[in-house]
Amino acid sequence: MFQPERLIRPNIAALVPYSSARSEYCGTAEIYLDANENSHGSAAGNGFNRYPDPVQKQLRKRVATLFNVPEESVFLGNGSDEAIDLLFRIFCRPGIDEVIICPPTYGMYETAAAINDAVLRRVPLTAEFQLDVGGMLNTINESTRLIFLCSPNNPTGNLLRRSDIMAICNAADCIVVVDEAYIEFADCPSLLSEIPKTPNLVVLRTLSKAFGCAGVRIGMAFANHKIISVMNTVKPPYNIGTPAAQLANAALSRLENVESWIKEIISERSRLAFALGTRRSVECVFPSDANFLLTRFREAGRMYDFLISRGIVVRDRSRLPLCQQCLRITVGTAAENQTLLDAIDEFERL
Ligand code: PMP
Repeated sequence: MFQPERLIRPNIAALVPYSSARSEYCGTAEIYLDANENSHGSAAGNGFNRYPDPVQKQLRKRVATLFNVPEESVFLGNGSDEAIDLLFRIFCRPGIDEVIICPPTYGMYETAAAINDAVLRRVPLTAEFQLDVGGMLNTINESTRLIFLCSPNNPTGNLLRRSDIMAICNAADCIVVVDEAYIEFADCPSLLSEIPKTPNLVVLRTLSKAFGCAGVRIGMAFANHKIISVMNTVKPPYNIGTPAAQLANAALSRLENVESWIKEIISERSRLAFALGTRRSVECVFPSDANFLLTRFREAGRMYDFLISRGIVVRDRSRLPLCQQCLRITVGTAAENQTLLDAIDEFERL
C-alpha cells in the first residue's frame, strides 16, 4: 500500500505549522485586535482590511461540491503553479530527490524543479506525443519522488492515454501529478474519479482556462487527504486573497457562460484547424483536445514575426523537442481566428 508519508521530506514531516491569528481564532467577534490589521478601514475598499480565511472554507466547499470530491481532498492555490511548487517543496530534498517530466510539456515543471534544486529526469514523449511507458518505468528509481504528466498536454494539445497514466500510477511508488489544466476542452472524463483508488495520484485543475479566470489566480490540486493536508500545512497561510476568493465563488455560481464558451471554443477549434490545414504556409496541424492548436509551419520564425507585425501574438514553441517549426495558437473568438487566417493569407501573398 502506497504511503505518502514515506516520501515527505523529513523537515516537512517534522514541521510545526505556522499558526496565523485567523487560524487560532476563527469564530465571530465584535472586535478583532489579534492580527495587527487596520481597524479603521481599507484604502482598497470595504472589508479588505481583514485577512482572508486561511482555510478558504467557503470556496473549498464550493469547489468540492462542484467537482464531486470530499473537502479534505481539495487544495486551493494562487494558480496551479503554486501547487506545482509546493509539491516540490514537500517531496523533493534539494540536490537528492528526482522528478520525471515528459518533454515537450508545460515549462513550469522544469522551472520549479530548477528552483527547488530537484534532480530532473526527462523521458520524452513518443513521436505520437504519447508516454513512453517502458522508458518511464526504466527511469523510475528509489529517488524518484514526483512524475509530472500533462493531459491534455501543453504544447502538443493531445490527451495522454488514460491506460498509460494509470499503468504509471500503479507501477510507481511515488507521487504522479496529472495536470488537467485543459481537460474541459477534451471529450474525456477527468482522472478525479480515480483518486479514491489511487493514493499516489494528484490531479491539478485551474480556473484560468475554461472558466476564464486567469487574472483571478485560482488553481486546484485534488488528491488523497493525506497529501492535501500536507499541502495545506506548508502553503503560505493567506495564499488566496479575499478578492480572488470572492471572484472565484461568484464565477463558480455562474457556469452557464462557461458551458457555452467551451462549446464555442471546441467548434472554433475544428474550424480553425481545418482552415489552417488548407494554408500553403502550414505543414500540419496536430489534433487537439485543448483550447489551442500546435501548428507546424514551413517557416515558423518568419510567420511568427509577420503575425506580430499584424498585432497578433502566438507562442513560438519551435525550440522544444518534437516541435520544430511549430507555433502554438490559442483558439480565440471567431473574429480573432478569422483575423489570424486573413493575416496568414496576406503572408502567403507576399
Ligand atoms: N498547467 C498547464 C498545463 C498550463 O498550461 C498552465 C498555464 N499555461 C498552468 C498549469 C498554470 O495554470 P494557473 O494559471 O492555474 O497557474
